[in-house]
Amino acid sequence: KGRLTIAGCGLHPGHMTLETQSLIEHAEIVLLVAPNPLSIQHILQLNANTEHLGRFYNMGFSRPEIYRQMAKRIIELVTAGKDVCTVFYGHPGVFVSSTRMASRVLKPLGHQVRMLPGISADACLYADLDLDPADTGCQSYESTRFLLTRRQVDSSAALILWQVGLTGEHSMDHFQPGEQGLAALTKLLLQSYPADHQVCLYEAPIFPGFEPKKDWLALADLPGAGAKVNTVSTLYIPACQAPEFAADRLAWLGLTEADIH
Ligand code: SAM
Repeated sequence: KGRLTIAGCGLHPGHMTLETQSLIEHAEIVLLVAPNPLSIQHILQLNANTEHLGRFYNMGFSRPEIYRQMAKRIIELVTAGKDVCTVFYGHPGVFVSSTRMASRVLKPLGHQVRMLPGISADACLYADLDLDPADTGCQSYESTRFLLTRRQVDSSAALILWQVGLTGEHSMDHFQPGEQGLAALTKLLLQSYPADHQVCLYEAPIFPGFEPKKDWLALADLPGAGAKVNTVSTLYIPACQAPEFAADRLAWLGLTEADIH
């Protein structure tokens, strides 16, 4: 019976785990969406029977249709009895809808489906921007969803906004920010953060040994920073104040603020 392994290759070849490497080597067919030529090269060396799912990006489909086409191809091969390994860049379960769609169809049909973790863009961000989510806590949202839904923004915790380069792009037809996306996002963030708060447009390196891109700018300047934002940018907004201790809850444990280190 066909089965599916959903793997991620990280952002460059140095990020691939030994487990993922071994599964790619032994798969009957590999379906690939990789970030860069080096990773593609690496995966082709591991298994020559590799098909590029990335081709659906160049066929004029809307974004949801691209993901449906990818899922359809995965399902087609697994239901035909193949041992399939899909390889997406980063972590294959982080902002990747086609693998989830395929999994939802295949599991009830009795196919074995498993997902392996990969090094995602936020894993790189923690390292490159020296952010330990244990210190402040960390909120993480897709940028347009964050903009268009009501959220309690906690400015005492870090905030990570994915797909900032597509902010407000609601038509799902383009790969660039909606015309007023960054301005609207900034307007919303200014309700919780000061105008001069330093935020970072971050890009992890996609080649080993290269430096990350970290464009720090005042929040108020974000709408004018369109040229620095692209489809792989992630926006990091550091906490701007310390969290407040809840005296009543400290009391539940018989503690005071002085007891907490
Ligand atoms: N599966 C991927 C992962 O685990 O990182 C995420 C894919 S998601 C469709 C694309 C978003 O991931 C981008 O808009 C950006 O927010 C983030 N991203 C992708 N590549 C990145 C990079 N090199 N540096 C920083 N963020 C990146």
